[in-house]
Amino acid sequence: MTKDLMENKGLDDSCLGDSGLLRELSYIDGRWVRADSGAVFAVLNPADGGMLGHVPDMGATEAQKAVEAAKAALPDWRALTAKQRSGLLKAWYGLVLDHADSLARLLTAEQGKPLAEAKGEILYGASFIEWFAEEAKRVYGETIPSHKADARVIVTREPVGVVAAITPWNFPHGMITRKVAPALAAGCTVVLKPAEDTPLSALALAVLAEKAGIPPGVLNIVTGSKAMAAEIGTVLTTHPEVRKVSFTGSTATGRLLMSQAADSVKKISLELGGNAPFIVFDSADLDLAVAGAMACKFRNAGQTCVCANRIYVQDGVYEDFAARLAEQVRALQVGPGTQDGVQIGPLINAAALEKVRDHVADAQQKGAQTVCGGAPHEAGPLFFAPTLMTEMDETMRLCREETFGPVAGLFRFKTEAEVIKAANDTSYGLASYLYSRDLGQAFRVSEALEYGMVGVNAPVLSAESIPFGGIKQSGIGREGGRQGIEEFTNLKYTLMGGLAG
Ligand code: ADP
Repeated sequence: MTKDLMENKGLDDSCLGDSGLLRELSYIDGRWVRADSGAVFAVLNPADGGMLGHVPDMGATEAQKAVEAAKAALPDWRALTAKQRSGLLKAWYGLVLDHADSLARLLTAEQGKPLAEAKGEILYGASFIEWFAEEAKRVYGETIPSHKADARVIVTREPVGVVAAITPWNFPHGMITRKVAPALAAGCTVVLKPAEDTPLSALALAVLAEKAGIPPGVLNIVTGSKAMAAEIGTVLTTHPEVRKVSFTGSTATGRLLMSQAADSVKKISLELGGNAPFIVFDSADLDLAVAGAMACKFRNAGQTCVCANRIYVQDGVYEDFAARLAEQVRALQVGPGTQDGVQIGPLINAAALEKVRDHVADAQQKGAQTVCGGAPHEAGPLFFAPTLMTEMDETMRLCREETFGPVAGLFRFKTEAEVIKAANDTSYGLASYLYSRDLGQAFRVSEALEYGMVGVNAPVLSAESIPFGGIKQSGIGREGGRQGIEEFTNLKYTLMGGLAG
């Protein structure tokens, strides 16, 4: 690819050449490889439909090879000291930081989010590599007072073995590092299948992992089109050598992968859909609540599993809140993520746009008022205008399903008990938010919310140091924090007997 062409695509020259970050090959057993069939699929820029490149369209055979490579690499990798693995992860972390700007450009090119958000995601993703490089050295066991006089009880944590990771397109960098970094830190090896819409960020991470000296077979990447996802997924969830499946994506796919993994009783972590309630009480600091709703709802054009889906506003502040929010929603800048000042990029693909359009039309039909937006945006075929709707109710699809778009829907409520019931009336249980200056209310409501995470007067929850995850049909397991590495370990209990002299 020439430099001109690269610039046209919004990329920079760090993507060029054999050592560049833009790779159109998959990475198995330390080698950059094509699909056995030679098939490829195109990666498109959602902002303008431009073609960014072609990556291998792999299937079951390549997935099997990747698992075998990961298995072969496991004994040496787990035999390293934690400090040695930590050192390699730190080298990887350093390289990600060194290339943060280029990685961000690549991410925006294939995913669409504004460049400033993409840079934020690269640093966020890198923070997991740093964190788990540190945590590698703290995988503590314990000794337990023995139940036998001539014995001692030792409990240790061991790496689970080969890990399969399947990741989504909405955070093409961060969702990978928060699985791969703890897995590698714990002494596991990994086969990663990135989302078909955003494989380039995954491959760029592998370029840097290789440069950092992470040995062949420790991290393998199998790319595949949407049509091949099930075939690759079947190998990754049923292969007897895969001991753990870590998935982030839709609840429907998570449910399927969980059932496939059941046959061989694999350990599993799932980060699935959300339907986050965002509750604004009469007692809230409204400036804070409006700013919070904007950050929580419109980041990544509303394509995050923790973003506010149902905004419940108490009767006393409803009109005021709606008016202030409308002013800010109208002011959002829509356009390609590479353009200065843009806050809302394109949606990922045509299916995503269709879903958002359907949710809006359904709400309008059932009586919602459209304050602003409500239709696709002229910036291009995948852009949707930032939308605010009021007078939403529980019969609307937006109330039941994740919208995953730049649409804020306001629901009116009167009492605390009523809003707790409404907020919990969903099969999801990932993130939830409440705004209140009444301390008693903040405690009462946060304890009553059936969610894995609650933000009280705080719209952005995630960080490398916290256990991120959901309950109910939003998932199993936690990512990040001290807990995040435990997900990739098994406990071993050893009884040291016969110690009497
Ligand atoms: P979305 O609908 O947001 O794209 P998905 O759950 O379909 O969410 O996708 C998340 C990840 O799961 C992607 O990497 C996708 O390729 C993968 N995926 C989808 N279907 C399957 C499947 N049957 N087996 C394995 N992976 C799958």
